[in-house]
Amino acid sequence: MQYVERVLEELKRKNPNEPEFHQAATEILNGLKPVVAKHPEYENAALLERFVEPERVIIFRVPWVDDGGKTHVNRGYRVQFNSAIGPYKGGLRFHPSVNLSIIKFLGLEQILKNSLTGLPIGGGKGGSDFDPKGKSEGEIMRFCQSFMTELYRHIGQDNDVPAGDIGVGGREIGYLFGQYKRICNEHVGVLTGRGLSYGGSLARTEATGYGLVYMVEEALKARGDGFCGKTVVVSGSGNVAIYAAEKAQSLGAKVVAMYDSNGFIYDGAGVKLEVIKQIKEVERGRIKEYAARVKGAEYHEGCAGIWNIPCDVALPCATQNEIGEEAARTLVKNGVKYVGEGANMPTTLEGIAAFQRAGVVFLPAKAANAGGVATSALEMAQSSGRMFWSFEEVDAKLKGIMANIYRNMDLAAREYGAEGDYVAGANIAGFLKVAEAMMAQGIV
Ligand code: NDP
Repeated sequence: MQYVERVLEELKRKNPNEPEFHQAATEILNGLKPVVAKHPEYENAALLERFVEPERVIIFRVPWVDDGGKTHVNRGYRVQFNSAIGPYKGGLRFHPSVNLSIIKFLGLEQILKNSLTGLPIGGGKGGSDFDPKGKSEGEIMRFCQSFMTELYRHIGQDNDVPAGDIGVGGREIGYLFGQYKRICNEHVGVLTGRGLSYGGSLARTEATGYGLVYMVEEALKARGDGFCGKTVVVSGSGNVAIYAAEKAQSLGAKVVAMYDSNGFIYDGAGVKLEVIKQIKEVERGRIKEYAARVKGAEYHEGCAGIWNIPCDVALPCATQNEIGEEAARTLVKNGVKYVGEGANMPTTLEGIAAFQRAGVVFLPAKAANAGGVATSALEMAQSSGRMFWSFEEVDAKLKGIMANIYRNMDLAAREYGAEGDYVAGANIAGFLKVAEAMMAQGIV
């Protein structure tokens, strides 16, 4: 049996019931086959076996009391996956679906994503099965404080720097940071995505969505094309989705549909983002409201139907496995030409294959959504240098980083005989730097 197959089989045997982790590892390791063929020394050093085994997994109890005085217990996670090129870095996700498999898939992806940014950050991820939906401000704050009361001992500005993800936005980062500062008595850059009044960076809120659109723009430009006049479907209506839609619109595209976890809206005249922002960011309400407020807009219950809407560019920006094979085929049939993954692993392995067979330009998450973590690293640089850059400075750096990532993954794909296959290109370009650092640091 070949090296990659052996490692994957062993991974599945050792980690049963972790389907998302298997899926991410399969996608990554298959893309690395040409690399291990060129580097037999990696097998001797058990490099892939070490790469897929987290350096440390922390699982902890998070007890908290609701407004009615009832005690609840959630489970907290932090997977410190790989620190070969820098301190662990990756978001915290609060969502009822969170389990070890999901945190491990996200952590594994994060290693390569962080490497692709060209910045010195290792890979980690964490979160909890806590559901912030429907909770009061006081409940959210007490949960965040309890979560940090355990997490603080495992993280630090030079060791592990978490950020936000699904269910963890500016409000939650604020409560987490406040508790860290209180326990440790230090005001340092231990979390990114902080508010501007206490060490945050301008453009961090917009970074993942903007970065995604910058990368799709690079792909369009390389084909003599641009966003102007394109019809775009964006799934989700959270942080990544809103700012991806905003940037796409500012480049002249028409965003016609978005969703939340209950259903999707279609607005043929182009989605009014100020209404979406009011509903989702200010009121923390449901997207259904949009159809009640905007004349001519439609609301449809359920998410899957969004992929039946014809578009030139699809930007899945909600969660993992949103686009399966059937949805991918429908998108292709309806003329999609570009797919940029804003969410992590939103497309199944079968969905990716369907896009690639049809010649769709497919930009995988670890490259396409790396703008968020890249800007987090810029926030870390500003924190440690006690500096504060303007929005334009950060945005220009973000744009440069996204263009570099596009170039590097394109080059890596060509160099390893997989021209146009950005899944392989991103995996290879991200992995080579981590592999070199791991080899240099001995068997650790
Ligand atoms: P948010 O919590 O801000 O928004 C998530 C959005 O996706 C919401 O509209 C939510 O709907 C929807 N959603 C979540 N779960 C599901 C589900 N199971 N089915 C359908 N819809 C769902 O998260 P972010 O925007 O921060 O993150 C979105 C994705 O982007 C995630 O995959 C995340 O890992 C990835 N990402 C985020 C980065 C960041 O900087 N924030 C950086 C890189 C990647 P509802 O409102 O109903 O909950």
